[in-house]
Amino acid sequence: MWIGAHVSSAQGLTAAVKTVIEMQGNTFQFFTRNPRGGKARALDSEDIREANKLMKINNFGPVVAHAPYTYNLASAKKNVRAFSRLTLKDDLLRIKAMGVPYLVLHVGSHGGQGEEKGLALVGEGLRGLLTDLPEGTMILLEGMAGQGTELGYTFEHLVQIIQACDGHSGLGVCLDSCHLTGAGYDLADLAGFKDEFEQVVGWERLKAFHLNDSLYPLASKRDRHAKLGEGHLGLEIIKKIVRDPDIQKVPLILETPHDNLGYAQEIALVKKISS
Ligand SMILES: [Zn+2]
Ligand SMILES: [Zn+2]
Repeated sequence: MWIGAHVSSAQGLTAAVKTVIEMQGNTFQFFTRNPRGGKARALDSEDIREANKLMKINNFGPVVAHAPYTYNLASAKKNVRAFSRLTLKDDLLRIKAMGVPYLVLHVGSHGGQGEEKGLALVGEGLRGLLTDLPEGTMILLEGMAGQGTELGYTFEHLVQIIQACDGHSGLGVCLDSCHLTGAGYDLADLAGFKDEFEQVVGWERLKAFHLNDSLYPLASKRDRHAKLGEGHLGLEIIKKIVRDPDIQKVPLILETPHDNLGYAQEIALVKKISS
């Protein structure tokens, strides 16, 4: 099982890996650049080499990069879409250089244009990016809770985008137990949720899983993460999730409201309840 947390990479990749090793994790997630946008730090090949060496020695699983929240391929504004595409392209080249396979992307917000229009714009933006996707990298569409005019809160949205890209093998999905709850997928019925995902999207598309409890109840359309066992999911459901053999195949990333010490304790908890 690969378990880790979202950690800062502000001090470089090696420092992030060391933080994760201290937490007893074997995967992690980091922002490709400041989550509110901005310039990315220069790549340091020595740092990347050292980080990859440490990850190999410590049997790390695939690592996950997360795109900033400011990207919006569904925006009505052409300049926002163009900025999102350009920076995504740069992010993909950066993660390729880092040896990181996955870039998680929020599907986007239609901002009042309507879901169909928004989804079509996302498909268009991704098609452009996928034509020269760096080898060994994938874009993971993140399943969302459905706040505001957010897209990607149903499995149908996700598959519609994948189909608009002719089922490109460079597109995967990242699910989040908090977002699924907000969107109305009841994880208490794990088998039912799994059947639906398998039928609509297909299990082979799942490449990462954000493990968070949800501050708000089922179908709240709210995205507020809670510590494991302190939200509407509770430890019994979390336990079912982390024991599931299909979910165990992908990196599990904690994005709960914790500092690094809290993450270390939560990683220990997940290990304990997963076996
Ligand atoms: Zn996210
Ligand atoms: Zn969230």
